[in-house]
This record gives sequence, C-alpha cells and structure tokens, in this order.
Amino acid sequence: MRIDKLLKHKLTLSFEVFPPKKGDGKTDELFDTIKRLKELSPDFISVTYGGGGSNARNAAEIAGFIKSLGIEPLAHITGGPSSPEDIDNTAKKLISLGVENVLALRGDKPKDENVEYCKYFKHASELENYLGKYGFTLGAACYPEGHCECPTLYDDLVNLKKKEEAGAAFFITQLFYDNAYYYRLVGEARRMGIVSPIIPGIMPITNMKNLPAVKSMCGSTIPLELRNMIEVYSNEPDVLREIGINYAVYQIIDLIAKGAPGVHVYIMNRAETAEAIYGRLKNVFCKLFRA
Ligand code: FAD
Repeated sequence: MRIDKLLKHKLTLSFEVFPPKKGDGKTDELFDTIKRLKELSPDFISVTYGGGGSNARNAAEIAGFIKSLGIEPLAHITGGPSSPEDIDNTAKKLISLGVENVLALRGDKPKDENVEYCKYFKHASELENYLGKYGFTLGAACYPEGHCECPTLYDDLVNLKKKEEAGAAFFITQLFYDNAYYYRLVGEARRMGIVSPIIPGIMPITNMKNLPAVKSMCGSTIPLELRNMIEVYSNEPDVLREIGINYAVYQIIDLIAKGAPGVHVYIMNRAETAEAIYGRLKNVFCKLFRA
C-alpha cells in the first residue's frame, strides 16, 4: 500500500527500526521485534539506511522481511554516500522485494569513516529526482526546529518546498519534545504552499543513553519540565522509563487532537517501547486510527 494513499483516508501509526551492525548477530532479534510490532497493527515500519551506506543490503532484507509479514515497509535511502549505481542496485533490490515506499535522504557523513560524501547527490531532492524513474512513493525528512545547517527555519522551508516539488508525497519530522515546534512547522509550511502531510516523529527518552543522541545528533530542545524530571530520576531507570513513555503518550494525544495525520515512533529497536505506548493509548489507536 502506498503511504500517501493511506494518509488520505486514515491516521497512520508507524515505527522506525534500524539494521543491526553487520556480524553482531542481532538481525534475528530484530526480526522478533518486528513480529511483536505486527501485533500492534502498524500502518508501516521504516528501516533506516546507514549514513555511510554500508548496511544497504541488510536494510533491504529487513524491509523485505517486514513486507513478508504483510506490513508496509518504508525503506530509507541516503544519497550522500551513494553513487548512481549504488542507488540503482538498491532500488532494483527493493522493487524485487515488493517495496513501494522510500524515504529519500541526504544522510550525514559518519565522523569516523573516510567516505566520499555527496559526490553525486548533494541534497535529498537530487536523490528524489533520480529515484523518479523507479515509481516509488517518496517521502522526505523535515525539521520542526530547523535543520542544523540552515540559518533559519524559513531557509529550511524553502528547501523543504524543493523536496516536495521533487516528488515527496509526505514528510516525517525529526524527533521533538515540544509540540509547539511541530505546530509552527506545519503552519509555516502551509503558508509557503507545502501541501504534503507532515507526520510527527516521537522518540520517548527511556534511559539516560538516549540523551546524548537527542542533544548532539538532533539538537532537539528538551523542555525544562521534562529535563527536570529526567535529571531528578536519572539514577532510577524504571522511573525514568515511565517518565519517557508517559511524556510521549502526552505528546501523541495532543498531536492527534490538534490534527496531526498520524504518528511515527522512534523505538530504537525496542518492541517494549512500542507496546508500552500502545498499551496506554489502546482506545486512541483502536478507535481513532481505524480506516
Ligand atoms: P537535505 O534535504 O539535503 O537537507 C540538508 C540541508 O541542506 C538542510 O539544511 C536543507 O535546508 C539544505 N537543503 C536541502 N535541499 C537543498 C537545496 N536544494 N539547495 C540548498 N540547500 C538545500 N540519516 C541516515 O543516515 N540514515 C537514515 O536512515 C536517516 N533517516 C532519517 C529519517 C528522518 C525522518 C529524519 C528526520 C532524519 C533521518 N536521517 C537519516 C538524518 C538525515 O540524513 C540528516 O538529518 C541529514 O543532515 C539531512 O538529511 P536530509 O535528507 O534532510 O537532507
């Protein structure tokens, strides 16, 4: 099922997983996680693609596994580390596995890898243009607090419009902890004539390990209220987890009540995170997310 079509007639629940590092034996574990996610009836599951492009094969296999369970996969592809030939190989592999939806990204050059970056595809929009011939439904990324390389949100939105013009039929946001940033993004995007649905991305902070990633990779603002709760209970992992899950649940209800087209949850490959959120929002998902 094409994700743009789904979004036309229902709210979507989706999760993101990432391929385990090669050779660490965790692919079977991830397959078990995906089987557990199936019980929550997600509309799609997205699979990330390493910024260095090294896990392309594994990512495609995981997308194929998701498809084989009858769930819609959304395969990420990063143009930064890729040549046109790499993209052709990945696209053909995905098509052979029945994958119809692709999230086109630039990616970030891995700090510790000496890879040539953005030689062929400078921006996500260039990758979208190249992927056009394969007939995927394309999505792209957007940033409620603006992308870190852009001086202003406005500049970033000018570029977001280019991504829509290059074929993005929906967007998924970077994670955020203050919904006001999402509402501002959607409002400003609409004022600039961007019409595609913008799915909010939510990542519960369930342990202290999440925090550096949130701060350094995404630069997302953590509201004082949440920061305070996290810091006070930083040595109480079970309490911290409840804080993170409850905060995500609060964000999701507020987003849906104010008209978001669905929710995409960054679960860091943990089925229990998805299950905990689903358990607390069962009526929301069973009643409001029905077609
Ligand atoms: P772009 O759209 O190319 O934007 C990058 C910067 O360039 C922005 O500042 C933008 O404003 C500017 N820009 C865009 N287009 C133009 C243009 N035409 N002219 C001039 N400037 C322009 N990373 C991975 O490595 N693998 C993943 O699987 C992955 N999945 C992600 C999923 C989501 C939902 C999100 C939000 C991010 C994901 N990322 C992933 C991270 C992403 O690769 C980085 O945030 C990266 O820095 C930007 O990628 P992009 O596709 O938004 O790039």
